[in-house]
Amino acid sequence: MASPVWHPFTQHAVEPPMPTIARARGAWLETDDNRRILDAISSWWVITHGHRHKPITDAIHAEIDKLDQVIFAGLTHEPAERLAEQLIDMAPAGLAHVFFSDSGSTSVEVALKMALGYWRNIGEPRTRIAALKHGYHGDTIGTMSAGARGVFNAAYEPLLFDVVRIPFPHAGREQATLDALDSACREAPLAAFIAEPLIAGAGGMLIYGAETLAGMKRVCERHGALFIADEVMTGWGRTGTLFACEQASVTPDILCVAKGLTGGLLPLAATLATAPIFEAHYSDDRSRTLFHSSSFTANPVCCAAALANVDVWQSEPVLERIAKLADLQAGALATLAADARFENPRQLGTIAAVDLKVADGGYLASVGPALRAHFLAKGVLLRPLGNTIYVMPPYCTTAADLRLVYDAIRSAPDALA
Ligand code: PLP
Repeated sequence: MASPVWHPFTQHAVEPPMPTIARARGAWLETDDNRRILDAISSWWVITHGHRHKPITDAIHAEIDKLDQVIFAGLTHEPAERLAEQLIDMAPAGLAHVFFSDSGSTSVEVALKMALGYWRNIGEPRTRIAALKHGYHGDTIGTMSAGARGVFNAAYEPLLFDVVRIPFPHAGREQATLDALDSACREAPLAAFIAEPLIAGAGGMLIYGAETLAGMKRVCERHGALFIADEVMTGWGRTGTLFACEQASVTPDILCVAKGLTGGLLPLAATLATAPIFEAHYSDDRSRTLFHSSSFTANPVCCAAALANVDVWQSEPVLERIAKLADLQAGALATLAADARFENPRQLGTIAAVDLKVADGGYLASVGPALRAHFLAKGVLLRPLGNTIYVMPPYCTTAADLRLVYDAIRSAPDALA
């Protein structure tokens, strides 16, 4: 009988039979029939140190035996309190309050609600949102509205709100981005501008420089627009530093984190805000409350996993591992740079990407599913964005593991021919 499961971002009519994953350890997955698959995309970019990193699984076991779940309105608990303090210490200086939720999308929804709540509560209701072109912020209505429009959200278009699109700062066109943002602010006040710092992920692994990020923040400051940094993908070391904003010495007004917050082992997200944003909601007038919740907000077991992840960052040489992996990626990518079948090799920290030259590019490029099947047959989990092949592995990935990945990439054009 066909499975009743409806999978995410999956066209079941054409999807080949899916492997059943039974176990995982480090950078590797294992199927129920004992086939090993290298997780070269960190299971949708969530796994940072490796699957089942022991200090984190230990913390999960310990917390589940103490406190499983508790409502987080009107009650609090130690793992959340300690985690909030740690996040404030680790995040760019100036962020002062932490709102927990349970996915990257919800962290961004909360950010948008904080921004509009801020303006309304200080008596200057601004509602316009601007966003960088090619952005991806999630699949809820608000985050789809802020993200790029396309085949993924065409059916839901009538539900989406308008945002001002700021052109992506492609190399050589950075000033046009800054000018467009400045013009948007002058046309009518913006409540907030949202961007993925340094790299648009799902939009095609498009990289831009720290100076542009700092420039966009300066434009926002000049016009009083709140700057929302969506670090759901870039956070927790992916770009070479703990947060991408560090590379531009930028403190956003609102910072979204998720995915690697728990090392990727459990779902947890956080939206960090500056003191003025919290204070705008702090009032005897209860109508100024930040009206947002979800049942599993700040789940204690997830918070314990995140605390263990923070401890891993403080006690293990994580940044050194990241630097080593970045070097390995650079070496491997260089071999593709000289290969005429590929173009646009690019890298930011541990993230590497290259485009396979094809006649029909784009997300629905017919080559995408064929590539995925080829990689799987080679024992590598890669999930190209159309003809864009990217490698975003856990930080424990070895040189030998990476050779396997790049051998699979190099052999792809011939296999597909
Ligand atoms: N924001 C960015 C930059 C992302 O890359 C993603 C997911 O890939 C999200 C938000 C949404 O996160 P989630 O899938 O956890 O809802």
